[in-house]
Amino acid sequence: MRNDYAELRDAIARLCSDFPGKYWRELDRSKSYPTEFVQALTDAGWLSVLIPEEFGGAGLPLSAAAAILEEMQAQGCNAAACHAQMYTMGTLLRHGSAEQKQEYLPRIASGALRLQAFGVTEPTNGTDTGALKTTATRDGDDFVINGQKIWTSRAEHSDLMLLLARTSPREAGAKKTAGLSVILVDLRDALGHGLTIRPIRTMMNHATTEVFFDNLRVPARNLIGEEGKGFRYILSGMNAERILIAAECVGDARWFIDKSVTYAGERVVFDRAIGANQGVQFPVARAYANMRASALMVDEALRLYEAGQNPGAEANMAKLLAADASFEAANACVQIHGGFGFAEEYDVERKFRETRLYQVAPISTNLILSYLAEHVLGMPRSY
Ligand SMILES: Cc1cc2nc3c(=O)[nH]c(=O)nc-3n(C[C@H](O)[C@H](O)[C@H](O)COP(=O)(O)OP(=O)(O)OC[C@H]3O[C@@H](n4cnc5c(N)ncnc54)[C@H](O)[C@@H]3O)c2cc1C
Repeated sequence: MRNDYAELRDAIARLCSDFPGKYWRELDRSKSYPTEFVQALTDAGWLSVLIPEEFGGAGLPLSAAAAILEEMQAQGCNAAACHAQMYTMGTLLRHGSAEQKQEYLPRIASGALRLQAFGVTEPTNGTDTGALKTTATRDGDDFVINGQKIWTSRAEHSDLMLLLARTSPREAGAKKTAGLSVILVDLRDALGHGLTIRPIRTMMNHATTEVFFDNLRVPARNLIGEEGKGFRYILSGMNAERILIAAECVGDARWFIDKSVTYAGERVVFDRAIGANQGVQFPVARAYANMRASALMVDEALRLYEAGQNPGAEANMAKLLAADASFEAANACVQIHGGFGFAEEYDVERKFRETRLYQVAPISTNLILSYLAEHVLGMPRSY
């Protein structure tokens, strides 16, 4: 296994040992938020590592965040409860005004404020972001927001939300994504004053929601960057998001592979360990090879990102390959456990459900393939 950030990984593993499978199983049953886990990470400063030191964070590079998230998953925890707290602030950091950064970043770094809700996806347009319908209309010193978002994860556990909304109508001939703007919504002020949050129960415990805007007033000073350029700002944060999710998938794959190897060595059937059968070994060995290959692509994407490049292809490939590797490892792990793969107390079925998400979110496998086909290989556009 890669030995980068060894001390940091050890520290994460120690913290995670306070949150064993039993903790996650109970939350999974009641579909509850891992408040204690997120608080422990916040108190230890792990969620603010990407915030520059001048704003109270650790000012570490993206590779440190990747190591943190990978290790959480490899220890059997679930970073989905809080990973957005790490990278969502990047939009504010890169495109916010000096006043906005001073107002929010130090409190995000200290954990006094949570910015971990990100409202882009809508029910009627899905992946076609340019077709989104939520509007933010200027009225005096406010924007008045109307519309609906779906899959806005962690909205119930966040103080702030980054919202992508249309501030000017789609014009014939203009790019579909023109006229979209990013607005920082203070959820504490908004709840009950034009904002309603409705949880969506999902196959895994994910604290995701639908969010409804009904004439919600947000101060115009909460606009991030220039009006109408929001899609570009959101895109600029997506490489970081994809690389970090890919690192989580590598961590998941490591967890499944460790579990598989241990169980295959212990389970005796026909008077020998099941792991002595090549039919049992090969799926795990293949998953291991694919996990290692995807980890190299994560490293390559990180290297380019930290060199100031725009590694769209590598970030997408890392996400694609790592999500495939984690699901392959998950499937092998269920199979190796036989009937016990379906029993809650082994945690395998829970992690299997959790890692399945990354074939779909934050971007689905098909959309990555079409990006590679069209933008990297120059094939004809399909949509
Ligand atoms: C648990 C969860 C948490 C999420 N959290 C957030 C969040 O915090 N914030 C947020 O904004 N969004 C979030 N999302 C939304 C997520 O990013 C979307 O679900 C994802 O991008 C897919 O969009 P969709 O569900 O609308 O699928 P659709 O766009 O409707 O696509 C459905 C299927 O069709 C395929 N498809 C669509 N168009 C094409 C095409 N042209 N070619 C080939 N295949 C195609 C897709 O690959 C997909 O498999 C979350 C989703 C889930 C499930």
